[in-house]
Amino acid sequence: MKSQALFDRAKAVIPGGVNSPVRAFGSVGMTPRFIAGAKGDRIRDVEGNEYIDYIGSWGPMILGHAHPAVLEAVAQAARDGLSFGATTEREVEMAELICNIVPSVEMVRMVNSGTEAVMSAIRAARGFTGRDKLVKFAGCYHGHTDAMLVKAGSGVMTQGLPGSSGVPQGCTKDTLTATYNDLGSVEALFEANPNEIAAVIVEPVGANMGVVLPEPGFLEGLRAICDANGALLIFDEVITGFRLQLDGAQGFYGVRPDLTTFGKIIGGGMPVGAYGGRRDIMSMVAPTGPVYQAGTLSGNPVAMAAGLAQLKLLRDTPDLYAKLNRAGDEFFTTLDGILNDAGVPHCLNHVGSLGSVFFTPEKVSNYAGAQTSDTWKYTAYFKHMLDSGVYLAPSQFEAMFLSTAHSAEDLRKTLDAVREFVK
Ligand SMILES: *Cc1c(COP(=O)(O)O)cnc(C)c1O
Repeated sequence: MKSQALFDRAKAVIPGGVNSPVRAFGSVGMTPRFIAGAKGDRIRDVEGNEYIDYIGSWGPMILGHAHPAVLEAVAQAARDGLSFGATTEREVEMAELICNIVPSVEMVRMVNSGTEAVMSAIRAARGFTGRDKLVKFAGCYHGHTDAMLVKAGSGVMTQGLPGSSGVPQGCTKDTLTATYNDLGSVEALFEANPNEIAAVIVEPVGANMGVVLPEPGFLEGLRAICDANGALLIFDEVITGFRLQLDGAQGFYGVRPDLTTFGKIIGGGMPVGAYGGRRDIMSMVAPTGPVYQAGTLSGNPVAMAAGLAQLKLLRDTPDLYAKLNRAGDEFFTTLDGILNDAGVPHCLNHVGSLGSVFFTPEKVSNYAGAQTSDTWKYTAYFKHMLDSGVYLAPSQFEAMFLSTAHSAEDLRKTLDAVREFVK
């Protein structure tokens, strides 16, 4: 088996054989498929097996893989040179496009990943407020910057303990952890740390503990708590940005953050991130202000070309989000029905093209709820689906991503595979 041989070679020279841990298939105890290529909603491994893909590179491929317009834009940009370390017109176009699409973003800075976007946004928030402490939520992932690697699920009132070896306690002592969908847990942190909290950072839809939706009033409540305490509200829209609708979760739920982080879709499959928001906060960033942040490859011309091409398609295709969200509603509702009819204890959370099945009888509205899932059941489900030609995330605690390239026929085939699984 080619994938096995490649994995053995990889493990000798790359930690765990992978460049990002979830790719190792560790939580399902299998050998990862090495991917040779992908087109539309299909992904192909080195053995030549084809799968209907529900990972979509963890979100970026909202138009499906290898979209011709994006590929053409990349090829054209590449011919002009791969990087200059100098300002280009495409960066201006990209910034204008984002500011036009997302009303809360008055100024924006391009970076190379979601991690970098978050790291920079929290630095700007701390610089602007002159405060050090941050509130994050258990189960929300904000990339692997030191300050955000705080043991998820730690007690609400406890000071942050590093969730990774190599992160000094000093880097996380100012990170406070609250419970998703629990405004009381946030209020308690503000009461215990008066005038010390710079910002609350949240995934407006939790999508890194499986999909967990904000309950009505939760995001509005965070806005109100931040306003009452002089803290900033940061939406980490690395997954939800340009996915729920063009202006992301903030448009979908009608709550305006002070700062927003982007990644994934914004690069069309190239390594891109961005952070932006209020003009007065973003003006604190160097060279206008004292908050230092830089990047040799930031705003890379080829990456900008890919992102611009994808964002323009998303903006200019009539009814794109209405159709995608309708397809998602129908797909996830049917999936829910199949599991209901079969009497499989589960909780299906979804919004538009984003969803996940938790194998638990409980309603999942936070990290502790997600943790009640039967991960053995998920592993069996994952294996069955992979054998049936459906490529799901190799972990219970990740989302399923639908794209505009998912055909009605492939969605039907996927549901048929689920019917086989529960038979
Ligand atoms: C993926 C993700 C990140 C990190 O982005 P990278 O590009 O992997 O560094 C940050 N926040 C959220 C919500 C994410 O889903």
